[in-house]
Amino acid sequence: MSENRVKIAVVGSGPAGLTAAIYAARAEFEPVVFEGLEPGGQLTITTEVENYPGFDKGIQGPELMDTMRKQAEKFGAKTMFKEVKEADLKANPKVLKTDDGEVYLADAVIVATGASARFLGIPSEEEYKGHGVSACATCDGFFYKGLKVLVVGGGDSAMEEANYLTKFASEVTVIHRRDEFRASRIMIERAKKNPKIKFKLNSTIKEILGKDQMGMKMVTGAILENTKDGSTEEIEADGIFIAIGHVPNTKVFKDQLELDNDGYIVTEKGSTKTNIEGVFAAGDVADRIYQQAVTAAGTGCMAALDAQSWLEEKEMEEAE
Ligand code: NAP
Repeated sequence: MSENRVKIAVVGSGPAGLTAAIYAARAEFEPVVFEGLEPGGQLTITTEVENYPGFDKGIQGPELMDTMRKQAEKFGAKTMFKEVKEADLKANPKVLKTDDGEVYLADAVIVATGASARFLGIPSEEEYKGHGVSACATCDGFFYKGLKVLVVGGGDSAMEEANYLTKFASEVTVIHRRDEFRASRIMIERAKKNPKIKFKLNSTIKEILGKDQMGMKMVTGAILENTKDGSTEEIEADGIFIAIGHVPNTKVFKDQLELDNDGYIVTEKGSTKTNIEGVFAAGDVADRIYQQAVTAAGTGCMAALDAQSWLEEKEMEEAE
């Protein structure tokens, strides 16, 4: 085990973390970026990003993230394929322990750990995860060529996943618990116009059905429950894609940072400051409302600037 001293440690490598790293590196704070288990974050499992400013023809999510990483490295940021497993944020300097047993001592920490897919939380979903139940159409859609799939959810993610899955599947049924969608008009219209997409509204998945074939678990369908009258029906499906939003990745910091009821990090209004001096939060981990790549990048920039001011003030106080 060795100890490494850094001025600014960035935890997470989505648009928030990498933008923070670009700004901190350009200001010569030599940031270290712990990329986590999914370097590049959620955009690396999407396809085309149409609404990130500067790309009139759109850009593939993985390409956008790769470019951001290179931009941060160009200015001296050190990106590392490591996960932070333990943290003592109240210590001075702050202590971060990574999955390889290394310890990093940081003057300031920017938490940009993003959010992960939310699941329904029923036992049969757990049983068939990776065997027909997925939360990532771009990762697993290819396996459903000519097959029937369900997409659960009524937000932009569900519409996007449903549209994407029609490239492969013969039929995509969107299961949504209400009769109104949360998704934006353009995404709903696109899905409604797609002849392969059907909708089953006022419905939730009560149980996922499957079978064992030659020692391999596979999904065969689901039992749907009507949210209005409680009636149930069976629906056939070869795959089920869950697209019901995300939960913030705050597990490592949960006993130290102030979180709201849903686990999002609470920041001071108009800033990225958390309840702990020298710890800043940016991107989806602290944003329950906007959750966009561009807003994550924006708050990543704010976090780097907030961290810099805090470090400079601290340095001046110590010099007095
Ligand atoms: P979201 O907007 O929070 O929508 C989640 C959906 O899942 C809602 O329709 C919700 O139903 C449903 N849901 C939640 N928990 C459920 C449960 N336990 N059982 C059944 N249904 C459940 O999440 P999102 O679609 O992932 O989008 C997140 C953010 O990313 C949004 O700001 C969105 O605009 C953005 N996004 C943008 C794009 C794009 O512009 N290309 C693509 C994807 C995502 P209710 O409606 O009844 O609450």
